[in-house]
Amino acid sequence: MKKKILYFFSDTGGGHRSAATAIISAVAHFSKEKYSQEMLDVFAECSGFLNVFARLYAPVIKYSPRLWGQLYYWLDDEKKLEQLELISRPFILKELKKLIELKQPDVIVSVHPLVNHLTVKAIRESGRRVPFIIVITDPVTLHRAWIAPEADRVIVATPEAKKLAVQYGLPEKKIKVIGMPIDPKFFLKRPRRAGRRFTILMMGGGEGAGKMRDIIEEFERKKFDGQLIVICGRNKQLETKLKKQAGQFSFPVRVFGFTNQVHELMAESDLIITKAGPGTIAEALAMNLPIIITAWLPGQEEGNVEFVARENVGRVSRDPARVVELVSELRSTKEFDEMKKNIKRVSRPQAALDIAREIFRFI
Ligand code: UDP
Repeated sequence: MKKKILYFFSDTGGGHRSAATAIISAVAHFSKEKYSQEMLDVFAECSGFLNVFARLYAPVIKYSPRLWGQLYYWLDDEKKLEQLELISRPFILKELKKLIELKQPDVIVSVHPLVNHLTVKAIRESGRRVPFIIVITDPVTLHRAWIAPEADRVIVATPEAKKLAVQYGLPEKKIKVIGMPIDPKFFLKRPRRAGRRFTILMMGGGEGAGKMRDIIEEFERKKFDGQLIVICGRNKQLETKLKKQAGQFSFPVRVFGFTNQVHELMAESDLIITKAGPGTIAEALAMNLPIIITAWLPGQEEGNVEFVARENVGRVSRDPARVVELVSELRSTKEFDEMKKNIKRVSRPQAALDIAREIFRFI
């Protein structure tokens, strides 16, 4: 009989879904016959009440990232997390237990910070012995909410993340430093066509956050001589406006809504301008793209910004005019080639395959 791997995630942003699907592809790469795999959006499945809060992620990060930052820091505290768990328990624990009994997984893998403590309890109360693995998708700095010391294995992306996890009470022997899970399709490098225009990919995570329109207008003012590919994600408003405007710019602009072709579009690009989402950064590094970071969530994504600057794999500016200047300063310089060398050093494009191997050790 096939072994069953159950993934817990939530559609807040795009990163958690991408992490789960990356591991699923990696497991399938090894064997499609041996494993059955299923993803569960835990809030949507278990609690309509909590799902309302999960759905607030998109508008909050779009309109008030500062509020998100305040909430992030406020909750980064053991006592408050305990209280949050007590409040949410009646809404979710019973349902989680039912799900575990119904699905009978051989292993549960969580790629979301907010369900781990309750999952441990639900497994215990179900009376089944199900190994529980957490894959932390914040590569550098991480929130205390991720840490459930009773988990069987916790996978992190960097030594810094490991250090923090230990500091937050996780036994060191349970931690493995592997990398961010990105889909194996991201290490498909395609030969670029010679002589084509310098191509920049712009995106803002699954929700299309960041000041993308302001930056495009700045490119217009500076008479940009390349081309832009813009991924708006689930930001319909941005997509509609840009699609209307696209023909009016003096350079080609291709606009996409939520797309499954991020890897193809990255393969066509020379550089990426993005919010500091961990998924996007890891994918860009796998595709050897230098990065200009223009937005980040306070707290949650600050570590990623520091990482890009410290490893010299890109640049950081929130100011649209400066972003456009950075592009012309960087392209075709030695520095740009240097960045690509640094990217090769820090990127771990095959991490999802190693994570899959780690999961196999538990089933
Ligand atoms: N993504 C996608 N299609 C889109 C926009 C984004 O598949 O149209 C993916 C992207 O490749 C990445 C994830 O969504 O894997 C975004 O994750 P990230 O951690 O960068 O940011 P989040 O959306 O979680 O804030």
